[in-house]
This record gives sequence, structure tokens and C-alpha cells, in this order.
Amino acid sequence: MHAPAPPGPVGRRRVALSLTALALLLTPACTTPSNASDNPTAAPPLPAPDDGDGGSGEASGTGSSGSGDGPSDDVPDGPLSDRVVVIDPGHNGGNADAPDEINAMVPAGPGEKACDTVGAETADGYAEHEFNWELSLLVRDRLEADGATVVLTRSDDEGVGPCIDDRARIGNEADADAAVSIHADGGPESGRGFHVITPGDVPGFTDDIVEPSRLLAGDLRREYREGTGVPYADYLADEGLDERTDLGGLNMSDVPKVFLEAGNLRNPEDAALLTDPGWRERAADAIARGVAVYLLRS
Ligand SMILES: [Zn+2]
Repeated sequence: MHAPAPPGPVGRRRVALSLTALALLLTPACTTPSNASDNPTAAPPLPAPDDGDGGSGEASGTGSSGSGDGPSDDVPDGPLSDRVVVIDPGHNGGNADAPDEINAMVPAGPGEKACDTVGAETADGYAEHEFNWELSLLVRDRLEADGATVVLTRSDDEGVGPCIDDRARIGNEADADAAVSIHADGGPESGRGFHVITPGDVPGFTDDIVEPSRLLAGDLRREYREGTGVPYADYLADEGLDERTDLGGLNMSDVPKVFLEAGNLRNPEDAALLTDPGWRERAADAIARGVAVYLLRS
């Protein structure tokens, strides 16, 4: 079920530092052809697609305090200062009690789809919308600590919707540099793992976002796998990537966008991770890093 997780104060500074370190690492090394904008952090290709253990480097470093000296009021200065990211926590806590609103048809590209769905849950009843929400807040904290402007598509976990087309519209109106919809799947109990969904080619709708979304998906997939220990889904997708043309949240987007299906809530092994607050901190680190790597190289 494309779409949910809890907040947590931990780790933020560490990630801030590691992203800063990442930016520093990327800058001097090999150079990208010529697209190097004048952004000082224009980034070249990253280390390696393999699993190495990535550059968690943790370079000792630079100023700690996230709050910084920057001129801006409340947004800390950081490698992502000029970037806008939309984080879209899938589903919502009130959806189950609002079938009329949720089932109303809305534009989803060439056709229509239901406004939203209720989402998945674990065997013990931990709901996907809650997971999505909690994890999204953690990701937001990390990206903000690195200076990004983060827009969430909903403001709490008790409301209804928004509808899938509105979720996309929020990203468009924010002119986001990247948008990530956070979900967890409700797959077969025997299947485990995560996957990232990218927009397929839907003429007139996704032409402009297929390529950058693919890059975003690649960075997110690598960092998430390395950072969480969750394997690629073994019951669908292809090495953790799935291209789809039927998702309104992607079809209606004009900005690079992907869905993360963070794991399979119906699978006991995945569920044990997804329900663990400590694991969610690590997952948020990984997601924020994936987004940052994409932004710094684009
Ligand atoms: Zn979902």
C-alpha cells in the first residue's frame, strides 16, 4: 500500500553532520560533466552502487549546532538550504471512517481513481498511516536540519486524505526539487523487503519527470538498503524498483517524485523492524541521505 512512521529527536545532528560531510566529499572529487551549477555542492557521481557501507563517514567536523549562524530565521544553514522537498505520508488516520470522501473519484492522470485508501496494517494492528506519519516526521527533521524547506502533505495523522491528486498538487505548487511519498506495503505474509516506485511514461503527464524520478529512486534505493538492512522486495518489483503508470500521486506530479514502500507490514520480519522506533530513526537517516544525495548531484 503505497503510503506511513513516528517522530524522534535522536540522530538529527549526526545526520546533519554526515550530510554536510557528504557535500564536502562530493564537491572536490571527480566532477560531473558540465552541469555543475554554481551551487557549491554540485555533486558528482557517488561512491559506488554496491553495498560497501557507504560513506557514513561521520567526518568529525564542523560546527555542530544545527541552529547555526545563518541569516535565516529558523531554517538552519546547510547543504540543502536552497532546496524544497515534499514529504508525503501516505493515507491518513481518519480515512477508515470517511468512506464517501475516500472513495470519491479524482483525476489520476488519463483516468480517475479513488481519492485515497485506508492503507495496510501489521497482524497486530499497527496501521500504515501511522507508520507513514511517524517516519515522515523523522525524515522532515533531518532534511530541515540540513537546511531544506520541507513541506508535508498533511498536518497530522487524524484527518482524511488529502486525495492523491491534491498530494501531487502540493508538490507542484511548492515547486519541489524532490517529492517522496512514504508508504509500507500490505503484501503476502511470506514476502518481505522494500521497493521504490517510479513514474512510468504517461504521455502528457509524466514525460517531464520520468528521468529525474528514476535518479531519485536510485539514490533512495541505495541509501535505504544500506542504511536499514531491509532487502529488496522478493515478491514484486525488480531489484527494489517498480515503474508504474497507474498511480495518480505520480501521474499528477510535475516534480520528480517516487513512492517508497518501506517494507511489508504483513511480513513478520519486516513488521518487527517497521514497528521499532530505533529502526525508524535509522530508516529516516537513510531516506534523508538518499534525498540529499539526489539533490546535491542534481
Ligand atoms: Zn500505502
